[in-house]
Amino acid sequence: MQVLKFGGTSVANPENIERVLNIVNHKAQKVAVVVSAFGGITDLLLHTAAVAANKDLTYKESFEEIEKRHLDAVKALIPITEQSATLSKVKSELNQLETLFQGAYLLGELSPRTADIVASYGELLSSFIIAEAAKQKGIDTIRKDSRELIKTSHGYGKATVDFKATNANCKAFFEKNTNRVVILPGFVASTESGETTTLGRGGSDYTAAIIAAALDVDDLEIWTDVSGMFTANPKLVKQAFPIEHISYQEAMELSHFGAKVIYPPTIQPVLSKEIPIWVKNTFEPEHPGTYITKNTNGKAKPVKGISHIEKIALVTLEGASMVGIPGFSKRLFEVLFQEGINIILITQASSEHSICLAIAEAEAETAKKAIDEVFAYEISLGKVEPAILEKGQAIIALVGDNMKSHQGLSGKMFSSLGKNNVNIRAIAQGASEKNISAVIDKRDVKKALNTLHESFFEDNVRQLNLFVTGVGNVGEKFLNQIRQQQDYLKEKLRLNLRVVALSNSRTMVFAEDGVDLENWHEILAKGEKASLDGFLDKVRELNLRNSIFVDNTANEAVSDKYADYLKNSIAVVTCNKIACSSDFDKYQELKDLSRKYNAPFLFETNVGAGLPIIDTLKNLIASGDNVRKIQAVLSGSLNFVFNNFKEGVSFHDVVKQAQEEGYTEPDPKIDLSGVDVARKILILARESKNTIDLKDIENESFLPKESLDTSTNEDFFASLKKHENEFNTLYAEAAAKNCRLKYVAQFEDGRAKVGLQHIPEGHDFYNLEGSDNIVLFYTDRYPEQPLIVKGAGAGAEVTASGIFADVIRVGKV
Ligand code: ADP
Ligand code: ASP
Ligand code: MG
Repeated sequence: MQVLKFGGTSVANPENIERVLNIVNHKAQKVAVVVSAFGGITDLLLHTAAVAANKDLTYKESFEEIEKRHLDAVKALIPITEQSATLSKVKSELNQLETLFQGAYLLGELSPRTADIVASYGELLSSFIIAEAAKQKGIDTIRKDSRELIKTSHGYGKATVDFKATNANCKAFFEKNTNRVVILPGFVASTESGETTTLGRGGSDYTAAIIAAALDVDDLEIWTDVSGMFTANPKLVKQAFPIEHISYQEAMELSHFGAKVIYPPTIQPVLSKEIPIWVKNTFEPEHPGTYITKNTNGKAKPVKGISHIEKIALVTLEGASMVGIPGFSKRLFEVLFQEGINIILITQASSEHSICLAIAEAEAETAKKAIDEVFAYEISLGKVEPAILEKGQAIIALVGDNMKSHQGLSGKMFSSLGKNNVNIRAIAQGASEKNISAVIDKRDVKKALNTLHESFFEDNVRQLNLFVTGVGNVGEKFLNQIRQQQDYLKEKLRLNLRVVALSNSRTMVFAEDGVDLENWHEILAKGEKASLDGFLDKVRELNLRNSIFVDNTANEAVSDKYADYLKNSIAVVTCNKIACSSDFDKYQELKDLSRKYNAPFLFETNVGAGLPIIDTLKNLIASGDNVRKIQAVLSGSLNFVFNNFKEGVSFHDVVKQAQEEGYTEPDPKIDLSGVDVARKILILARESKNTIDLKDIENESFLPKESLDTSTNEDFFASLKKHENEFNTLYAEAAAKNCRLKYVAQFEDGRAKVGLQHIPEGHDFYNLEGSDNIVLFYTDRYPEQPLIVKGAGAGAEVTASGIFADVIRVGKV
């Protein structure tokens, strides 16, 4: 014989009930079928009763809804010619229920005893209707009221089962019963004297387990709306998957710590009889689901699942001389027990100066009051502080029988949480080491679950959540590269890149599941109005793990937000030079924040676009090298200009061409004046551990003063034309010495300068082509022959690939 239990969603409507009956009908052997109330009905019953007891006449509306759900089910499941008997029974039950609501309304109160009676109607009605529907299908069925079988204490709301009487009743009934299918209401029971009680919310699972154990059946099937017990709540963790096989202990720990799929007391009755449990999905019956037995394969993963409980409060008791107070713990636990408060987690510092308890938030005030009263005398003497309450907490727990034989699991747990800025308030690890739990802020639950799931179950595939600002030239190329590389990165680097948000100066969009990169233009165009603060707020609110803010703009206001991102442990990747080349203090602040909040701040593309210049420098320094001198040609724009500026060509025309082909900043003076190069050498000097500012950099501009003083592009170009002769002279002087003109940046002995130089043949800079950049690092390890980085140093495609490389670097941290 088997016991099957179908939950609220499985029997929520006639269509689902048809599925249930189909599953039942396919069983060859005798079965006991325990059913829940139609989905949502228990909540509605209790809500209606509470509204009525509150003297609010709108209870009638919710009663009508209850009535309609049941009558509609009868009408849909039973042919019209056969309906009348069933309808009249259901109506008569509903009338009794209405009388209870009226009573609550008139009295203006709802006793726990009445609440149980009201709640029992959900299962009583559903089991009756489903049994009638089964009979109509020709299934050999009888309905049995569980209240006649399961006997309990008077503890209303969550009564204690009298197993002796219950087991005897179950055996007696089923021994005599000849019907193939017995349908029973879950959740409901009664006292010895016949008063209705319930087994606690979610208790239909328990009903099924009690019957299964009493009859010592072959197995118990819990049919629900998911395909088993998952590695984490599938509603919060998309990547969660069903656990194939799990032990009773593990299932019990997971359910105790919030995996609602099984009501915690359910395991106990079947455990002693070693009756296996299957957790199956009514909506995907062919899926094997989860198998729960005494032992599982010893080679199984150490962590089986992650669960969490919300609405937790922390109660902390502190006092310098708690150690000396006799029976301190005993008094504390006793008073909480007397108040009926369940302690979910306890931690105590070894100094015994503080003890911290996690309890349900709803009980927090009662707990504080009771504790402060019990220790009133010690509090008055200053030996103990009044209890401190912190609400809005949650508990997350890692569960697994094999955790004890693995080292470093808690380290891994806390470091992955730490990296994502999840603050841990308290930690507990049971001596059995089947569970490590941590108390965190409830706002971090989703992020924490996903982070831990990624660390323990996803073969180290890390999801990087990108928030991208700036979708111009560089931004567009960057998005293209992500689209092309997504699959490769997932497979080869175990990185899952997801663009969660996009913004330009006009609009912004957010999509937690990722913006569709095939159609991002249209999606962004339809987005909401862009705002830098709004963007930041939304990123914070989403609170996703491994978040990266990507700045593809050249905008100062955007760079002003980096600090806020870093403070929220959100990595910043930018090609925008402003932040790193502004005041030293600002640059240093960002570096410090990055370290403090464990959030990478990467800006490789600030110098030499996609070339690994800053990364090379960082690696040299990290490995103990010391930079003596840096010589570099760092301006793709100036290279383009001086490579094309020859005899017989006008300097003005070359600059114009460079601007038109996108080799200069929109304002070409920034490049021609050398300011852009100065910013780059400044960043390299700073990255080589020097405190230096832009004003400290010597800039011998080759531009005439008049050109430097212009304020519009038009005036600037006009001045270039006017001073044509001076430019021709520059060229002629270099050519006479067989040299080429290059705009060189140099850093040595703490001093930096930039300016035009004559480069002789044979020099590393002489043959620099097109917009190439070159950097020579002279260090302790490379004193004579420098370490050279050379290649394309400008252009949207290479810049985008540099940003891409920084994003990957974040992923590998
Ligand atoms: P039923 O009405 O069938 O008793 P419940 O709603 O009580 O179903 O339990 C099933 C729900 O439990 C799932 O829909 C899911 O949202 C939730 N749940 C929480 N944690 C887990 C988990 N680890 N595995 C599966 N489901 C879980
Ligand atoms: N109907 C009850 C509840 O919603 C019991 C159950 O469904 O398991 O809590
Ligand atoms: Mg349930």
